[in-house]
Amino acid sequence: MKLTSDKIIVCGPCSAETREQVLRTAEGLAAAGVGCFRAGLWKPRTRPGCFEGVGAEGLEWMTEVRRTYGMRIATELNTARNAELLLKAGMDIAWIGARTSTNPFDVQDIANALRGCQIDVYIKNPIAPDSALWLGAIERIERAGIKGRIVAIHRGFCSWEKDVFRNSPIWSVPLWLKEQRPDLPVVCDPSHIAGKAHLVPMVAGMALSLGLDGLFIESHCNPSAALSDAAQQLTPEEIGHLFQTLKLTE
Ligand code: PEP
Ligand code: MN
Repeated sequence: MKLTSDKIIVCGPCSAETREQVLRTAEGLAAAGVGCFRAGLWKPRTRPGCFEGVGAEGLEWMTEVRRTYGMRIATELNTARNAELLLKAGMDIAWIGARTSTNPFDVQDIANALRGCQIDVYIKNPIAPDSALWLGAIERIERAGIKGRIVAIHRGFCSWEKDVFRNSPIWSVPLWLKEQRPDLPVVCDPSHIAGKAHLVPMVAGMALSLGLDGLFIESHCNPSAALSDAAQQLTPEEIGHLFQTLKLTE
């Protein structure tokens, strides 16, 4: 399948777990028309004792994905201390997670570490619905004069009230950002909003119908065995179907 839309599409597992899992997932996603592969190497876990990612060891698996399937590669830049590693590996995209974009000190350290570098930076909304804090994180990266492109990601907001979603979308926030900054692409991460695989297609459809600029979605070759976010990942085949339904591929 081939992507026929100009939407920004990034797909891949929550975490890189093994070389085999990374390559198998990438193979399926490449067949579904996905050109950009995400996988977390350092995982921000809410409580200690869970799988915290394979770390730098997974960089080689990611560069193998690029060599083998010609995909661009993306991972979370969790701290400025790892910036050099990503730059050396030629990572195409570094994303800043929701917990990090909440802290201006951390975002500024990352901005300083990437100053003038050739890398795309995707910035997730902070955990709480503070639209100025999200825009501030974007501005800090912009002021670092990176050579790649900057993209905002709406991944929903943490709420004390339990609703059907894991992180409630507040669509007026990404729409406000688009109004403030018509030049800035704003995409949606329906996986961390939905929290459950069966809700992901609906959230993805909502995001596109509201005019957001693309999707950043989790996909795993064997979701039920995933070491993080098992409940919300789609198989590469399900991603292929979803993209057909959303008329993103032919
Ligand atoms: C992720 O993308 O796997 C992730 C940890 O996301 P967030 O920062 O949105 O929670
Ligand atoms: Mn995840």
